[in-house]
Amino acid sequence: MNPFDQYRRNVARVGDLLNLSQKEADALQTPDRIIEKKLKVTLGGKAQELSAYRVQFSNARGPYKGGIRFHPKADLDEVKALAAMMAIKCAVVDIPMGGGKGGVTFNPKEYSSDEVYTVAREFVREMHEHLGPDIDVPAPDVYTNAQIMGIMLDEYEKIIGKSAPATFTGKPLSLGGTPGRDTATAMGGVFVLEAYLAEKNIEGKGLKVSVHGFGNAGATAAQLLHERGFIIVGIADSKGSVMSEKGIDPNVFIHIKNQKQSIRDMYCQGSVCDESKLQTEGVTLGEADDVLTMECDVLIPAALDGVITKEIAEKIKASVVLELANGPTTTEGDEVLENRGIPVIPDVLANAGGVTVSYFEWIQGKTGRAMKRTETNDLLKEVMSVAWSSVSKAAKEHGVPYRLSSFVLAADRILQAKRDRGVL
Ligand code: GLU
Repeated sequence: MNPFDQYRRNVARVGDLLNLSQKEADALQTPDRIIEKKLKVTLGGKAQELSAYRVQFSNARGPYKGGIRFHPKADLDEVKALAAMMAIKCAVVDIPMGGGKGGVTFNPKEYSSDEVYTVAREFVREMHEHLGPDIDVPAPDVYTNAQIMGIMLDEYEKIIGKSAPATFTGKPLSLGGTPGRDTATAMGGVFVLEAYLAEKNIEGKGLKVSVHGFGNAGATAAQLLHERGFIIVGIADSKGSVMSEKGIDPNVFIHIKNQKQSIRDMYCQGSVCDESKLQTEGVTLGEADDVLTMECDVLIPAALDGVITKEIAEKIKASVVLELANGPTTTEGDEVLENRGIPVIPDVLANAGGVTVSYFEWIQGKTGRAMKRTETNDLLKEVMSVAWSSVSKAAKEHGVPYRLSSFVLAADRILQAKRDRGVL
């Protein structure tokens, strides 16, 4: 099932639960605008034309909001689904923003930073009339970062001839970024997990956690949970996994990640691994996906979409799944987890901390009032706790899993905004 079909399937289930009319269901499934451009750039000494997209899904609740990804597999269908999910996400955490997403189809890892920045500038040159603090506010996503937002802001301000920091979020601190935006996705996920555990009367300390993906969200989540006394029993990046029943200190692996090496390089040089070090530390190495099915209490998919397939879902041993990545569970995987009674705290709630702090940064950009990290984190905790309570309450009311209750909550809020505008 392609990502947008997956989204439509969730909307159809919401439609059944809430008795939505065809008009209402259509309103949730039709993007406001799809912008497609070709970016003419020189990469690796060759003139190239890259496909670039911005999908503005819904601005019923506020300006379009969502990241821009640079990825070889980014295509219109994916970007459309992700834009729709941003509208849902912003509504779940009840921030006054709509949903949008952008993508450029290329692999930035194959090119120099300067070449990637040329793509960023070209994206803004082609798309600028559709962007702005009150129109559409992009942020980082897969393979884009604060520096790229800085470059995009610079290009945008050059074109419009004035300062407009609220046009982009997830910016460097020197350009009006908000302290805490870098850790916000993971922090938000941790707050939601804590709220879930508190509701179930489960002590977090001592719970075994396995994290799939060691990029910003995965590595930060591992660090934050380790600090809180959870035991990190498995971590994985694209090259492989490191697992230990006794627990791993994720901080030890951060410098490896910063050097753009793989976490298994802690123990191995190429295919030669230090067996005695592995034994002393009680560590085993494996394929990246081994952490998905290992013995643990909490599984955190924090890398790519579609990793929890039907087959993987059948083997998952965790008691709860916290989706820090966007779309890590396939529809079939989701069905298996539902049947097996393994709760999934869905992406639209679990990773909404990122866009929530983006919202704080947007306010900062509009008002000029700088925020402190502690203030950001306190506010984030409040937003995530309230969102958790609402999602959990809706799940009980309708007798459905958290993904569906999140959709119900969000759909209701988006449709209400449309009704209040008199357009539905
Ligand atoms: N790309 C992130 C997401 O998928 C953040 C979006 C934002 O901050 O606007 O939620």
